[in-house]
Amino acid sequence: MKLDALVIGAHPDDAEISVGGTILRMIDAGRTVGVLDLTRGEMGTRGTAEDRDRETQRASELLGLHYRGNVGLPDGRVEANVEAREAVARILRETQPDFVLAHHEHDLHPDHSACGRIAKEAWYLSGLKRLAELDGGPPAKRPARLAHFMGHIAFEPTVVVDVDAVWERKLEVIRAYTSQIQAAAPDDRGEHFLFGADILQRAETKARFFGEKIGVRYGEPLWQEGPLATTDPTR
Ligand SMILES: [Zn+2]
Repeated sequence: MKLDALVIGAHPDDAEISVGGTILRMIDAGRTVGVLDLTRGEMGTRGTAEDRDRETQRASELLGLHYRGNVGLPDGRVEANVEAREAVARILRETQPDFVLAHHEHDLHPDHSACGRIAKEAWYLSGLKRLAELDGGPPAKRPARLAHFMGHIAFEPTVVVDVDAVWERKLEVIRAYTSQIQAAAPDDRGEHFLFGADILQRAETKARFFGEKIGVRYGEPLWQEGPLATTDPTR
């Protein structure tokens, strides 16, 4: 399978909450898009791993994803080690995305930070010929572009994606994660930083703030290391 874009998140729902609008816009534009989760979110305060698998499947259908994978790393204990980065590099060679989008390394949740680092290292390793030969799978191929999405710590984005046209659909996709957005008990405040029913409000606040910067209602901020190339700066 050849993808145009692969989004890599630590837990099922990270991709949807952070860049669900960007994913929908790419798919609406005819791109083939996949999401790779590093864990099944089994340490989450709410819902079982089975609940989350079911919710992830529903969210994937709503997004219209062409691929959804899971690396099976331990939730809450994701480490940027050799095994993790080589496992992700293998998936990059198999799915051949031109564009990879992952957490930013600077994030409060250690799994998110580790995911950002794993994605960056795997992106580089995916282009090494000898490593691909040792692995015995598809040939080496490094995605042309790697960018990061925003978690709990703000950065100055290099790109803001206009997601006005798909905003309501993005909220519907997030709502597929029923176990994550409903309180389990009246005093349930959740342990996850993005806890509770305010996940939707937080997503909206962030999208309004960054949308305003590009003159639209809703925007999703991305950051890419180094300058963006162009042959025509008037566009
Ligand atoms: Zn997460």
